[in-house]
Amino acid sequence: MKRKIIVGNWKMNPTTLEEAKRIFNFTKKIAKKSSSLHIVLCPPSVYISSLRSRKATPCLGIGAQNAHFEEQGSFTGEISALMLKDLGVTHIIVGHSERRAGGETDEVISKKVETVLEAGIHPILCVGEKERDHNSLYLEILKNQIKNSLSKVPKRLINQIIIAYEPVWAIGAKEPMDPVIIEEMSIFVRKVISDIYGRDNAIATPVLYGGSVNFRNAGDIIVKGGVDGLLVGRESVNVLGFVELLKAIELI
Ligand code: PEP
Repeated sequence: MKRKIIVGNWKMNPTTLEEAKRIFNFTKKIAKKSSSLHIVLCPPSVYISSLRSRKATPCLGIGAQNAHFEEQGSFTGEISALMLKDLGVTHIIVGHSERRAGGETDEVISKKVETVLEAGIHPILCVGEKERDHNSLYLEILKNQIKNSLSKVPKRLINQIIIAYEPVWAIGAKEPMDPVIIEEMSIFVRKVISDIYGRDNAIATPVLYGGSVNFRNAGDIIVKGGVDGLLVGRESVNVLGFVELLKAIELI
């Protein structure tokens, strides 16, 4: 059985290393016992080294929330995929909507995906429409986002990528997308990948859902949504909620 991939995007939280360690340790306890989950925690980069040294199970990976598209150089304040690789990072989120909102384009995202792959790290590529319209234009927008972001990815590397479908309007919201629609959208995402890379690659590429997932709705989304896992924001820094979420999915 394929393990379900649960990514915790901590964003700019928590504000102390002590609290970061606490969340990490609780998650590690679940990961150690789990036979059906692969958990990837993406803390702020400043915490990665300390948390990495506490890692003791292959089912718990450490990810980063972003990386620059160059390997090194004069880019003040930036961090490269190679540096993150050196710290033991296994996954990097690329193209999160909060970064796209800050001006990150598909072109920049495609360069980042390429650099992350070259570093031997799995990109977690975030895609998703900002809003829905009655003419289904959002499908075209999503298709172009996927195609453009993957434009530098050769067929032999597509399976190294994880796609996180995150409708922007469902991020930080009260409710997630209806799981029945999530299933439709996960099929659509695979269809786009299939058109570029072929059916077998589309089936093998993990597709996650993200947007207001919590311990109450996570199981339903996994069961009905046809996805290979979840990208979790707020609930991943709420220790009790996240532990319950992991337990709920472990049982499925
Ligand atoms: C996210 O920011 O990617 C996200 C899914 O956030 P939340 O779970 O808080 O909606």
